[in-house]
Formats: sequence, structure tokens, C-alpha cells
Amino acid sequence: MKVDQFLDNLKRRFPNEPEYHQAVEEVLLSIEETYNAHPEFEKQNIIERICIPDRIFSFRVTWVDDKGNVKTNMAYRVQHNNAIGPYKGGIRFHESVYPSILKFLAFEQTFKNALTTLPMGGAKGGSDFTPQGKSDSEVMRFCQAYILELWRHIGPETDVPAGDIGVGGREVAYMFGMYRKLAQENTGTFTGKGLEFGGSLIRPEATGYGNIYFLMNMLKRKGINDLKGQVVSISGSGNVATYTAEKVLELGGKVITMSDSSGYIYDAEGIDSEKLAYIFDLKNVQRGRIKEYADKYNCKYVDGERPWSEKCTIALPSATQNEIDKQEAEMLVSNGCMAVSEGANMPSTMEAVEVFLKNKILYAPGKAANAGGVSVSGLEMSQNAMKLSWPKEEVDKRLQDIMASIHEACVKYGTEPDGFVNYVKGANIAGFMKVAKAMMAQGVV
Ligand code: NDP
Repeated sequence: MKVDQFLDNLKRRFPNEPEYHQAVEEVLLSIEETYNAHPEFEKQNIIERICIPDRIFSFRVTWVDDKGNVKTNMAYRVQHNNAIGPYKGGIRFHESVYPSILKFLAFEQTFKNALTTLPMGGAKGGSDFTPQGKSDSEVMRFCQAYILELWRHIGPETDVPAGDIGVGGREVAYMFGMYRKLAQENTGTFTGKGLEFGGSLIRPEATGYGNIYFLMNMLKRKGINDLKGQVVSISGSGNVATYTAEKVLELGGKVITMSDSSGYIYDAEGIDSEKLAYIFDLKNVQRGRIKEYADKYNCKYVDGERPWSEKCTIALPSATQNEIDKQEAEMLVSNGCMAVSEGANMPSTMEAVEVFLKNKILYAPGKAANAGGVSVSGLEMSQNAMKLSWPKEEVDKRLQDIMASIHEACVKYGTEPDGFVNYVKGANIAGFMKVAKAMMAQGVV
């Protein structure tokens, strides 16, 4: 396999999908050597079969707003690969959603899920519908209309969706409610459900907590055992960002920034637990904007910018893809940032990743660092299948163990001759090898 040739061909067959091309290129560059050391992979054309999704459902969702206007949105489900378990991956509701975004996310999800040690394949779904600014009833009607089409293609042993940007507990509950009614079963298709109907303790916290558990594994190798004295910059103010901040505070770190798609706040005194509770309420109850924090606590708000120019020792991007470019990566490094651990999916551009690797800072790619979310989703599936629920401590312990084992796999496959751990390479090779071996064993299907 020659990466350039393969990518040219992929771009020709699937034009105008830059995010998908970017995600594939990033993985292929780091697995090329390993792949080419296994001629049996090439013989079975594993590379095309692992990069191109198994299937994509694409459909129109029609719904009625509060004023009686009939609205349409485009919606999708990308079932990427189910060699190691049922398709599994979140649903994103955001105006920016189009096939390229979901194809990149489903591709990444496949390798991430392989890393978790649990039997889950990769998928992703979503729509260009944005819940922001819609009433509860509008969100409910949209979710129901989306499931009216999708329910035939999902199920506890086929495809298990969850949340992502714009899809939190409220949206999952509305979708699950409609699914349950149509499918006439209650086996827990969907994770991130409410605790009253099959949800798992720690699932809302899992991606943020998991990212910090991964970060701590990296820091411990450097002899750092807590976050005391660390100045932490976080982007986003949604599910991942808020629980990341909560765990940082618990371990003694100081959080100085959070953001949304309109701008960021910088609080020199630090966002403490009380202020974080305000952000949580702002996002989930008032459904307001991060700017209101700056008004309330009288701190800096920068409109239309991302937080990476602020001096920090640890950066935790937790908003969206491509939110750190080369220049911002250089700024982070020159300001003394020693670790970047990704809560979001592909938040750093390829050029930004190069900057982190060149400067040999601790850099954890999303598919390793944010795998805690899907890991606890996997644990939710196990609990649903057993018809019982584990206590919080048990789920948290399992999450910590999974993040430690993902870290170990990255170290195993990503340690370079000089001792530097290239976590990108480590995560990609470990995830790829597991899926590729499963595909090889199962023949050409
Ligand atoms: P939420 O919808 O809860 O929060 C998203 C946050 O990111 C909001 O603050 C939002 O601001 C901001 N944001 C969204 N789009 C943009 C944009 N284009 N530019 C700048 N800011 C933006 O989503 P999550 O917290 O669940 O997801 C955040 C990231 O984490 C995503 O990359 C997701 O794929 C990833 N992830 C999530 C997991 C989970 O369990 N939820 C699991 C693994 C990864 P605004 O309100 O203005 O839109």
C-alpha cells in the first residue's frame, strides 16, 4: 500500500469530503509500515475495506415547528465496520453536519472502539438540525421524526447509537422513547439513557473523566501524580468540557478558559466548582451562551476567538473538529504547554499535530483520550443485557482500568527508539491491528 496513491484514489471516488480524507490520511500515515509488513492484509484488500464504510443511510426528516411550519432536514447513519461487535457511535445534531463529517467520525470511532477492549464496531449518525434555539417540543418532534426512519436499521445487536454534539440526555431520551414504541422492545438500543430507563451511572461524566484519567497516565510516566499547580485551558462548555473541568478541579488543577461556538471566556482566578455549576446550568437548563459567564463573574470574554492564545500548561480541546490549527499549536507550545489531551474528535489539524510531535510534548489523540465515553456506553450495554445496574464506584473503576489499558496499548505500539511515546502512532496501530485481524479471520464479507 502506498499512502499517496491510496488517498488520491479515495479523493477521486469520494470528492468534497475533506474531513473524511483528513482522518483517513492521519491513520494511514502512522500504520503504513505495520500494514506493509503484513502482505496478507494487502492480499485481502483490508485497507479499502477498513476505510470505506459498510453502508450509509441518508434520508430527509420532516417535522413541524411550533408555528405550524413544515420543516425538512437531512439526516444520516454511517455504519462503518462491525467486525468486532455491533455498530456503535453517537448521533450529532448540528447545522454543520454533512456526510464527510459523519464519515470521519465513524472511521475514527471504529479504531477508538477497538481500543476500549469491549466488543463494539464503529458508526456515527446525525443531522443538520441544530437544537440550539428550538423549544423542547420542537426538539422532541424532530427526534421522533428522525427515529421514525432510522429505527429499522438499529437494534441492541446491530447498531447502538448514543449522543454527541447537540445530542445530550434530553435528545437520547426522546429518540429512545420513539424507538421503543416502534420496535416494541426494551433491550436498551441507545446508550446515554436516563438512569430511570436503563442508563448507566457515570455515563454523562465518562468522556471528560476518561480524558483526565488518560492524561494522568501520561503524566505519571513523567513523575507527575496530580494536577496541583497546572493551569488548564479547556474549549467547549458542553458535556465533555464540563465534566473534564470537574475532574481537573478534583485533582487540584486550575481551569482558566471555556468556550462555545461564539467565543471564549478567560477567568484569571480560575473557574471553581461553584462557577462550573453555573456553566452547567447555563448550558443544560437555561440553554444560554458562555458570554453570560463573563457578564456574571466580570471576567474577559473574547468574541469569535478560540482560547489557545492564553498561557496554560495543559490544553484540553473539548468542542469540535479542527479547532487548533498550526499557528495555535505553535502558540500553545511557545507559551509552555506541556500536554494536550483531546476530549473532542480530531480537534487538532494535521499541521497542529505535527507541531506537538515535533516538540515532543505529551499529545493524546481523541481516539485514545476520549474513548471513556464509548467505553462506559459499552458498560451500559453490558448492564442492560444482564438486566442490572452497577454502582457508581464499579463503573468508575472499570473506566479507569480501560483508560489505563488504552494508555498501555499506545505505549506498546507508539514508543520510539529514543523513548518518546508517539500516542498517535500507538493508538492507530493498536486499533487498526485489532480490527484488521478480526476481518482477516472472518473472510471476505
Ligand atoms: P455538546 O453539544 O455537549 O457541546 C459541544 C460544545 O462545543 C459546545 O460548547 C458548543 O458550542 C461547542 N461547539 C460545537 N461546535 C462548535 C464549533 N463549530 N466551533 C466552536 N465550538 C463549537 O457536545 P459534546 O460535549 O458531547 O461533544 C464535544 C466533542 O467531544 C465533540 O467533538 C464530540 O464528537 C466529542 N466526543 C463526545 C463524546 C460524548 O460522550 N459526548 C464522546 C467522545 C467524543 P455551541 O453551544 O455554541 O454550539
